[in-house]
Amino acid sequence: MSMIELPPDSQRLSIPDYAMALAHVASLRSEDPYRKVGAVALDFDNRVIGTAYNGLAPGYNASPEFWADRDARRSFMIHAEVNLCSLFTRGNVKLIACTTEPCTSCMQMLCAYGVREVYYRESYPGSEAAAICARYGIHLCQLENVTGLIQTSDFSSDSRI
Ligand SMILES: [Zn+2]
Repeated sequence: MSMIELPPDSQRLSIPDYAMALAHVASLRSEDPYRKVGAVALDFDNRVIGTAYNGLAPGYNASPEFWADRDARRSFMIHAEVNLCSLFTRGNVKLIACTTEPCTSCMQMLCAYGVREVYYRESYPGSEAAAICARYGIHLCQLENVTGLIQTSDFSSDSRI
């Protein structure tokens, strides 16, 4: 019996692209009408630890008035990275992918959890993630086009499922 030789699979996603695609799917579950953020954590064998997205505390049902004020909601939104870190312990995660660049506070938290690589798609204004990663030797990389797998229109703020 002879082995069938298959051509190299040029369509196979890289690990960062794979993680970003999963983070994108997680973002579709966000209840925030203004900014939907998804995140995923992979361990040192590239296995998925979990996915998370930004939202209010579990079980809290906000009124329509709450959502009407974009700025007032900010203090109450739990960032995707915070929800993600509730799924693992320090030293168990190698890679995080977030649809939005971690804010300064979340990047500090990811450092505390020992994350080694951080990938993001959209920049977050005012974030000091780049400086934090440079100082602590964490690989930070922006992935703007995830192999064309996900269309730009999928990222609009009003996309919901
Ligand atoms: Zn954050």
